[in-house]
Amino acid sequence: MTGRAIGFVPTMGALHPGHISLIEESRKQSDFTVCSIFVNPTQFNDPADFARYPITIDKDIESLEKAGCDLLFLPAVSGIYPDHPPRSVHYELGYLENLLEGRYRPGHFQGVCMVVDRLLTIVEPDHLFLGQKDYQQCMVIRRLLELTGRVDAIALHICPTLREKDGLAMSSRNMRLNEADRKTAAVIYQALSALKSQLRPGDLTGLKMQATQRLAGAGFRTDYVEIADARTLEPVSNWDGQQRIVALAAAFLGEVRLIDNLPLNG
Ligand code: AMP
Repeated sequence: MTGRAIGFVPTMGALHPGHISLIEESRKQSDFTVCSIFVNPTQFNDPADFARYPITIDKDIESLEKAGCDLLFLPAVSGIYPDHPPRSVHYELGYLENLLEGRYRPGHFQGVCMVVDRLLTIVEPDHLFLGQKDYQQCMVIRRLLELTGRVDAIALHICPTLREKDGLAMSSRNMRLNEADRKTAAVIYQALSALKSQLRPGDLTGLKMQATQRLAGAGFRTDYVEIADARTLEPVSNWDGQQRIVALAAAFLGEVRLIDNLPLNG
């Protein structure tokens, strides 16, 4: 589409206002907005999680029309992976692949890169819109753009996390929480916010432990609570008061795995 800037918002559907905020941003920054909905089988390390992923396609189409999205790309698995099972490619993600989400979801980021690489080849966007909610994923996709020589061709926009009134980060997975767990789920944000308000230069071990204990006390099964360099995601255990840092957490309530993060300064 010569002369018209294409903005692209890749999603897995079960759309909520967080997704729609990306569509709105794309409409501001580009001339033609494409949204994809594709529940990508190659990024699920747990087949049960894939099987239970919520699908609300009629409602999604309505939300996209209302938001003024120009085109919905809704491929079948064979549309993205005609070579199913897909020929294996390895993306050199370095240490990013083995920490935090990478550590707890082996293979996840290779699957994310595989699908985003193919989607970008098909859509050929000028702008790509991602949510900061998936902090590490944003870094992985930035790396993918470098690895595939797209850094100059595609402008990456990282958009703020939209939250519910009680602070819970909006997520398609939230609709799988029962009523009691939905109330408890806000504790993730509360724990991260408490960590932010108590942040002082020096040793951060106690703060991380407090947040972990708070989650455990509320009934979460925690994968990690970490404080990391905001640019590299390398863990920070002693803060000099200057370095830009972010707190990240992943924890289960029942079978539902929730992630969140909060930049702590700057
Ligand atoms: P998903 O459908 O979960 O794969 O998400 C598709 C895109 O929407 C990703 O770039 C996510 O980071 C982004 N996203 C998900 N939840 C939110 C949220 N609460 N606020 C802003 N963006 C979000």
